[in-house]
Amino acid sequence: MDKVTLNIDGLEVVTDKETTVLQTALNNGIYIPHLCYHPDLKPTGVCRLCMVDLDGKVVISCRTPVEQGMVVKTRSPVVDMVRRINIEILVANHHVTCRGCPGSGRCALQKIMAYIRIDRKRVRRLRPAKEELPLDNSNPFFDYDPNKCVLCEICVHTCEKIQDGLKFVGRGYSTKITFFGDSSRCESCGECVARCPVGALIPKEDVVFQESPG
Ligand code: SF4
Ligand code: SF4
Repeated sequence: MDKVTLNIDGLEVVTDKETTVLQTALNNGIYIPHLCYHPDLKPTGVCRLCMVDLDGKVVISCRTPVEQGMVVKTRSPVVDMVRRINIEILVANHHVTCRGCPGSGRCALQKIMAYIRIDRKRVRRLRPAKEELPLDNSNPFFDYDPNKCVLCEICVHTCEKIQDGLKFVGRGYSTKITFFGDSSRCESCGECVARCPVGALIPKEDVVFQESPG
C-alpha cells in the first residue's frame, strides 16, 4: 500500500495513503477527542469533536484523508474554542452523574471533559430544564439510559451490520435509540454495549453475550 508522510503536532509520521488524519493520529499515540468514531465503522463526523487545524482551516479529522506533506495541529485557539462550545452543549444536555455510572472509568466523555477541563458547575447553569427520561429495559440483554446517550450512532451502525434492529427515533435532543418494541431481532452479541463510548448501554446482570455472527 502507498505511504505518505505528514506532520502532526511537530511529529513526522508515515502512514497508509488510504487512511484519515484521526486514524493516523490515534495509531501514533496522539489523542484527538472523539465520541462517534469507531475503527470498524465508516466515519460519520456527527460528534464534531475531532476537529484539527489544517493549514489554518478547521476540519473534522475523522473525515479528512491524509495527504503527503500535510501539517496538522490538534490544538489551536480556534480549534479549542469550537471544540469547547460543542462539548459544553453536549454536557449541558447530559446527566453527568459519573459516580455510580456503569460507564465511569472507561467513558470517552469523561476523558474529553478532563482533557478540555470542563467546569461542570458553569455548564450546569446552561442546562435546559429537562425531565429525566425513563430507563428503557425492554431488551432482555441490556438496558438503555437515554439520559446518558450522546447520540454518537455507534450502536445503530454496529447493529446495521448484524441484525439491523436498533434505530433512532425522535428529533434533536429528544432523539433516542429503540428496537421499536421488537427485541426478538436482537442476537445478544453484545457489540453495541461493548462499543458504546459512555454509560448509556448497560448489560443486564448475569447476561452472557453470544458470539457475533459477522
Ligand atoms: S456516561 Fe460518562 S460522563 Fe456520563 S455520567 Fe457516565 S461516566 Fe459520567
Ligand atoms: S447508546 Fe451509546 S453507542 Fe448508542 S448512540 Fe447512545 S451513546 Fe452512542
